[in-house]
Amino acid sequence: GFRRAGRLTGLDLSEIVRISERAALLRAEGRDVVTLSTGEPDFPTPDFVIDAALAAARGGQTRYPPTAGNADLRAAIAEDHGRQLAEVMVSTGAKQVLANALLATLDPGDEVIMPTPFWTSYADMVRIAGGTDVQVACPMEDGFKLSPAALEAAITPRTRWLMLNSPSNPSGAVYSASEIAALAEVLDRHPQVWIISDEIYAHLSYVRFASFTAVAPQLAHRTLIVNGVSKAWAMTGWRIGWGVGPAPLIKAMTAVQGQSTSGACTVAQAAALAALTGDRALLDDRRAAFRARRDRVVAALDAMPGLSCLEPDGAFYVFPSCAALLGDGRSDGDFCAALLEQAGVAVVPGRAFGLPGHFRLSFAYSEAELDEGLARIGAAIETEQ
Ligand code: PLP
Repeated sequence: GFRRAGRLTGLDLSEIVRISERAALLRAEGRDVVTLSTGEPDFPTPDFVIDAALAAARGGQTRYPPTAGNADLRAAIAEDHGRQLAEVMVSTGAKQVLANALLATLDPGDEVIMPTPFWTSYADMVRIAGGTDVQVACPMEDGFKLSPAALEAAITPRTRWLMLNSPSNPSGAVYSASEIAALAEVLDRHPQVWIISDEIYAHLSYVRFASFTAVAPQLAHRTLIVNGVSKAWAMTGWRIGWGVGPAPLIKAMTAVQGQSTSGACTVAQAAALAALTGDRALLDDRRAAFRARRDRVVAALDAMPGLSCLEPDGAFYVFPSCAALLGDGRSDGDFCAALLEQAGVAVVPGRAFGLPGHFRLSFAYSEAELDEGLARIGAAIETEQ
């Protein structure tokens, strides 16, 4: 019979995917469901980006690309970061950058520290790569952020990576420059610990954004910055992300990619190059639109009894606590299942992000969808009271 590899122990389809699929199924059955569960901007890919992709396809950019990415795109990324070409690689989404890094570096028993709540995939990726995830609870009282003391306490001789994500999915927390500097001070003392700084939401920060290496250049030789076009440019389907880090790491990651997917899609790389080098005014417009949605969503949630939420400083998620509505064996998973099955609104339980007692609502949706979804959540909570 079929036997899964041992390193897949505990691995299942992501709960975010399962909820979205369940919502789609209910809708196919004729139920009216509002989906607020996916982290995907509803904006279109900019026209000038699509034009560049068409031109690339017609212009013959249809052959195997270099494994680490097209030189022109890598050069644009390197310039953006003030780094060398050998310190940049392009992958099929930021997700593959993360997977490459973990597969290239983790041996059994190696530990990866991740503050919770974290993006669902982090823990599973570490496990697939044979490492051990070390989850450090960063509750709402701490602003969902890792403190220097908690970091210090989590580090062991086996720690290989700290995975940071600012702005954060799912909490929207953004580390300030001084908060990064305080973490860097701890990391200065532990040279075995490398840093993954997932900055995929950097352009969607509503407060001043601080990049990890800009604040802690002394750690650049053991830091991997992860970014891409998916979120800021609304290009989730093009699947282009990149990693910026020390050349030996980039080389090892390129070797991994070379034996899995090879270089990323040529047409998508041309599109990403156009996005990166094009007019960035659109990023400001979109950020302003998301910020207005954030204010709308937070105001609505704040008015609901039993929920409490922190205003997100970045990304397009809120992560309210529903702990006051739980208890008696009722989990955040039960709460979200009831919202989906009875109220017809899809959100994701906090347990999927390593911090139960919350749920994640994405506001990367139209105001009409947000208003309807929030009205349903409000009505569902009221009938429970
Ligand atoms: N990192 C974080 C924190 C994310 O939320 C996501 C997407 O949801 C990714 C990485 C993956 O981005 P991409 O679509 O470029 O693979």
